[in-house]
Amino acid sequence: MSRLYLRCAICSRQQAEGMISGAGWGRLELPPGAQVEHPALVGSTLRACPTCCSGHPDWQNRVLASLGLAPGFDVRPESA
Ligand SMILES: [Zn+2]
Repeated sequence: MSRLYLRCAICSRQQAEGMISGAGWGRLELPPGAQVEHPALVGSTLRACPTCCSGHPDWQNRVLASLGLAPGFDVRPESA
């Protein structure tokens, strides 16, 4: 049985999935059709650790930008 790990898209920190603390991780669904390669990508989902989420309120846009996707492309911050 393979063990799944959460991997932060920003700092690459890894944590075994299924731990209670995994709930604090941020989640970013890539827009449909987005073709990106990222070591932290699982299916179409990227995760960010609680530290990065709290340190970078706009982490989703940061990650999208780092992937070459336009910030706000199908992903809008709550406080837009
Ligand atoms: Zn992180």
